[in-house]
Amino acid sequence: MQGVHPDLYDAVQILNVIPAFHNTIMPPFGEEAMEILGSVVPDILVLEGAIPSDSMKGACIIGERDGKPVYLNDELRRLSDLNPNAAHVAVGSCATHGGIPGARGNPTGAMGLKDLLKDRTIVNLPGCPPQGEHILLTAAAVILGLPLKLDSQGRPLAFYGSLLHDECPRRGYYDSGKFAKNFSDPECLYKLGCRGPVTFADCATRKWNGGVNFCMQAGAPCIGCFDLRFPDVMSPFYVSQDTLELDATKKFFDVLIAGTMATAAGYVALDALGRRKKKDEEEEK
Ligand code: SF4
Ligand code: SF4
Repeated sequence: MQGVHPDLYDAVQILNVIPAFHNTIMPPFGEEAMEILGSVVPDILVLEGAIPSDSMKGACIIGERDGKPVYLNDELRRLSDLNPNAAHVAVGSCATHGGIPGARGNPTGAMGLKDLLKDRTIVNLPGCPPQGEHILLTAAAVILGLPLKLDSQGRPLAFYGSLLHDECPRRGYYDSGKFAKNFSDPECLYKLGCRGPVTFADCATRKWNGGVNFCMQAGAPCIGCFDLRFPDVMSPFYVSQDTLELDATKKFFDVLIAGTMATAAGYVALDALGRRKKKDEEEEK
C-alpha cells in the first residue's frame, strides 16, 4: 500500500482508515488476530495472494478457530457473505487470477478472487508486483464513495486504460523500425520480447518508486505483468512473440496509412485523368 502521493502515513490519517486485519502490519498475532478476524464485518475485503482450489484448500490455512484449521477459501466466503456489498478488491496478479502459482501446470489449482466469488464484482489490481499507488488510490476511491470505472478485466480504467506502447519513450524507434539487439541499446525493445504493444497500464507515466523509472526506461522489456493473461500468454519472456495480436495503435495507423495512400492514389489518378482530358481537349482544338 505504500504510495508516494500521498504516502501511506498521510493516507491513513486523511482517510481515517483502521485496517482491522492484515497479517503483517497489525500488531496482534496468533489467537488474538484470529479473534479480530472472527469479529469484523468488512467494508472493504482485500485479498493479496492466490487461493488454492477447494480440493487443495489445505495448501492455505490462515489460522485456527475452536481448535480447527481456518482455510482461506472458507474464510473469504464467510467474510464476503457477512457483507455482500463490501468492495471486493484483489491486489496483485496472484490474487486477481492466480498469477505465477496459477501458471501452466498449476499444482495447487491456484486461482484468483473472481474465480472463488463468482457472483461478486471484483476490482482487480493485477501486477507482479502490484503498484502501491493503484492500491492506495483504489482504497481511497472506495472509502470516499467515488465510482470506479472498470475495464473488461475488472481493472480501474484510471490506471489500466492506456496502452503502454503509446506512452513509451522508445515509441519513435518502433515507428521507424529501429529495434534493440541488446538490453543496453537505446532502441525499441520489441524484438527482445517487449509486451508493451498488448499491455494496458500506466507504468510509462506513473513510473515506479516515486516516479523514478520504469521497465523500458531501464532497458527491461515489458513482460505484461499488469495483464490478466500474465504469465502464460505473455511468456516465454524476452523473446519476440509475433503471435500476440498487434497493438491497437498500429492497426489504427495501418488503416490510416492505407486510407491516406488510397486517397493519395485517388488524387493522383484524378489528376492524371484531368491532365489527359485537358491534353485531349487541346489536341481537338
Ligand atoms: S515495443 Fe516496447 S519498447 Fe518498443 S515502443 Fe512499444 S512499449 Fe516501447
Ligand atoms: S512495464 Fe510491463 S512488466 Fe513493467 S511493471 Fe509495467 S506492466 Fe509490468
